[in-house]
Amino acid sequence: MTLARLVQLASIVAAAPVVAMCGGGSTASSVTSPTAAATTTTTPTASTLTGIYARFTNGVQVSLDGTTVVLRTTDVPDHMSPYFGAGNAGYEPPQAGMQVNPNRIASQNIVLRVPLSPTAASPSDTPLGPIGVATNGVVLFNQYAAGRVPLTNEIFSFDRFNGHPSPSNQYHYHVEPLWLTAKGKTVFIGVLLDGLPVYGPQDEDGSTPANLDGCNGHTHATSDFPQGTYHYHIVPAPPYIAGCFHGAPGTVAG
Ligand SMILES: [Zn+2]
Ligand SMILES: [Zn+2]
Repeated sequence: MTLARLVQLASIVAAAPVVAMCGGGSTASSVTSPTAAATTTTTPTASTLTGIYARFTNGVQVSLDGTTVVLRTTDVPDHMSPYFGAGNAGYEPPQAGMQVNPNRIASQNIVLRVPLSPTAASPSDTPLGPIGVATNGVVLFNQYAAGRVPLTNEIFSFDRFNGHPSPSNQYHYHVEPLWLTAKGKTVFIGVLLDGLPVYGPQDEDGSTPANLDGCNGHTHATSDFPQGTYHYHIVPAPPYIAGCFHGAPGTVAG
C-alpha cells in the first residue's frame, strides 16, 4: 500500500462513520509496482480521489489498484427503511401505499472496480444487478426488474427514499435516491461501472439538462471537473439513472 493510498483511506475513514467490514480482499499481495502506479497517476489520482471519490461515506472503502478505483461496500443504507425489518434500529413503518416486498436489507460484500480515467466506448447495455454505487454505498440498478421487464409493479415496493432489496437482500436504487437528492438536486450521486459520475436531476446552475443523450448523459465542465467530463443526470422517467454505459464498464463482484 502506498503512502498516498493510506492517506486517502485515512481521510475517507475520518470523514465517515465506519461500518464494520468483514472482508478479505485477495489482491493485497499482488506484484504491481506501487511506485509506478503512483507515478503514472499522480495528477488525476490526486484530483479525482480527493474530488468525487472523497465524497463516499457510510463505510465505503475507496482505494486505487493501478489505474482502477476499487470501491467496497456493505450496501447497507444510512437511512431508515421498512426493509430493515421490525425491531431493527433502522426500521420505520412503510409509508402509505407502499407494498413491502418479502426481502430484507442484509450486509453485503460488494466490490466494484471502475476505471480511474474513463475511456469513451460504444454505448453498451447496462446489466441487471449493480451498475454503479451511490455515495452512501447503496448500489444502483438499471431501469429493469428481473427478466428485463419495466419496473411498473416494483415501484410500489420502493421505500420513501426509493430503494428496496432484491431477493438476495441487496438493497438498491433504480430511480432518484431521494435521501441523497434531499441535499440538493445537483448533488453528486455516485459513479457507474464505467467510472463516469452521476449527478442529480439538475445542473449546477439549477437548470434541467435538455440535451441528454440516450445514456442520460452529456459533457460539460463542472466544479468537480473544470476540464469537462461526460456525466449522467437522473431523470424522472425510464431509464432514470442511465440508459446505457457511455464508457467501457469495469466489473462488479459480490
Ligand atoms: Zn429492484
Ligand atoms: Zn450536466
